[in-house]
Amino acid sequence: MRAAQIRPLTFGNGNAKLDQAIFTFSLPAGHSCPFALECLTKSNPNTGGIADGPDTKVRCYAATNEARFPSVRRARWKNFSDLRALRSDKRMARHILDSLSRFAGIVRVHDSGDFFSEAYYRAWLIVAARRPRTTFYWYTKALPYWSRHVHRVGNGRSPGDPPNVVQTASWGGRYDYLIEDLNLRSVRIVLSTEEAVERQLDIDHDDSHAMTHGPDFALLIHGTQPPNTPAAAAVKELRRSGGFQGYGVTWNRKSLPVLA
Ligand code: SF4
Repeated sequence: MRAAQIRPLTFGNGNAKLDQAIFTFSLPAGHSCPFALECLTKSNPNTGGIADGPDTKVRCYAATNEARFPSVRRARWKNFSDLRALRSDKRMARHILDSLSRFAGIVRVHDSGDFFSEAYYRAWLIVAARRPRTTFYWYTKALPYWSRHVHRVGNGRSPGDPPNVVQTASWGGRYDYLIEDLNLRSVRIVLSTEEAVERQLDIDHDDSHAMTHGPDFALLIHGTQPPNTPAAAAVKELRRSGGFQGYGVTWNRKSLPVLA
């Protein structure tokens, strides 16, 4: 299939916690995440029904959004189907480039989903190299792909990457050991602000950490969690204490950083 014959991919603008100026790109949660483990959650493409994985500890927020909104589900599946049909890194990169505004300043790759193949991972590196004025950032559990495309890594900076790419390894996947082996900059979901303090991690509420190079950081648990789990109890306690209510509810976003 030639890129010119298919419809453009769908990009979004911002989300409940992101500034509208940030472009987002999404694939179906879980279905496109070959390395997800403790977060693995899938929304049925037809019914929207939620299915947790056998090792799920924290339900994927993106999957619950797919369950609630059929239009979101359809857009993500269209992106996924179109890219998989293209197969090669170069064809996928061409199609992404044709679909992405040249004026995009910041792109969050995968508001939902992950790198479903190594060719697809390489496609985004090609895209970033072709758009040096755009910052591309992502969380990923596809650490085997990342590990094969870095020469040396340390403290969130990978000299093998294009300078406009900011990657963050997400704990809770099938290859967590690579985070320490390769000293990858990482993010953890924490169940309370106290846990973040104990781990000496800042909590990122607006992707300002995720989109810039820097130390490890945390995300605070939110969303609907599987019943009778520590994650569900943590969300309940956060709501009861009147603190964090979930993104897009009462949280005041910090202002976004200015990127060089
Ligand atoms: S890897 Fe990300 S998108 Fe995929 S299931 Fe886990 S949290 Fe959801």
